[in-house]
Amino acid sequence: MTEPAGGPAGGALAEATPPAESGPAEADWAAAVAAVRALPPDGRVLLICHVNPDGDALGSMLGFGLGLRRLGVRRMQATFPGPPEVPEPFRELPGLDLLVPATEAYPDPDLVICFDAAGESRLGELVDRLDTAGGVLVLDHHASNTRFGRVNLVDPHAAATSVVAEGLLARLGVALDAAIAECLYVALSTDTGSFRFEATTPAVHQLAARLLATGIRPGDISRRIFDTRPFGAVRLFGEVLGRACLEPAAAAGHGLVWTYATQDDLARHDQRAYVLEALIDSVRCTAEADVSCVVKQTANGDWAVSMRSKGAVDVSRVAVALGGGGHRFAAGFTGRGTVDEVVGRIRAELDGALTETGRR
Ligand code: AMP
Ligand code: MN
Ligand code: MN
Repeated sequence: MTEPAGGPAGGALAEATPPAESGPAEADWAAAVAAVRALPPDGRVLLICHVNPDGDALGSMLGFGLGLRRLGVRRMQATFPGPPEVPEPFRELPGLDLLVPATEAYPDPDLVICFDAAGESRLGELVDRLDTAGGVLVLDHHASNTRFGRVNLVDPHAAATSVVAEGLLARLGVALDAAIAECLYVALSTDTGSFRFEATTPAVHQLAARLLATGIRPGDISRRIFDTRPFGAVRLFGEVLGRACLEPAAAAGHGLVWTYATQDDLARHDQRAYVLEALIDSVRCTAEADVSCVVKQTANGDWAVSMRSKGAVDVSRVAVALGGGGHRFAAGFTGRGTVDEVVGRIRAELDGALTETGRR
């Protein structure tokens, strides 16, 4: 999609609105189309999305993969780094048959296509494919994207990577079917928080309309993705939310709310790590804090940190300063040390971020 984000559809208001930056240049779209069209008939395509894949990572990757299959691409794998476990909410996504464990991914594919990964570090052990592949195409929407592909379709104004994926499918002449649409809809609805976040532009709703027109069922999809979790996770959330800390003076008075969850918490409630991804949505409700944060212990003892902002603070700056990435209102990084050390670093960076950007 090249439509500018945030602009009204037309009329006098449109003239008064400064033009938003557009998406990828036409030359980049053309190069991406050419990279796909240049594949030999038996060409091997490896699709890779970021570690700990979310709805946008999996949905844009599988939706695009199904589109490539429609184009006649036969030798194709989809994968992501780390354990080959698909989080429960995504286990009914169409196209899952494309998935292979990272250990079985083509060592030297003709083309690698990366989805929703802002930088090489998000590709984990699959990063070597950037060197061994015949071509590397990057589809993403993170402003912090390092443009590590040979062709980069990066649109920081896109609400989800699936918006970019749909734009490329359209340019390749692939019509949407229900399977492709369900994948792209899951991606779009997860990254926009069910069409609630600021990035939910008219263009997002127009894309959603085209996806729904294929006959997919938004009620069923949303219940599966957002409104279903094991009872053990409900109890675990109670415990973890019960120890949330509110620091009204943090972030130069804009307020910070944070909590943490350990591997032991998960084990006691017999839960898988993915259930913690939804925790930030309960924490960020806190009226007294602009910034919210959940610190999640990973299997190797590090901490996966999720941060959200309501607007006063650019949390992507904090995340990038601490080795991660993300967007202005949603960002993350990997922390080491104790919870208090990790939160201490966030507190310190928050003050720095505020003095640089001020309030918006
Ligand atoms: P999450 O809190 O995991 O939902 O992530 C929020 C945003 O931050 C997403 O756009 C992620 O891609 C990005 N993000 C999260 N963790 C990292 C990380 N370790 N490195 C780079 N970006 C990250
Ligand atoms: Mn993602
Ligand atoms: Mn995304």
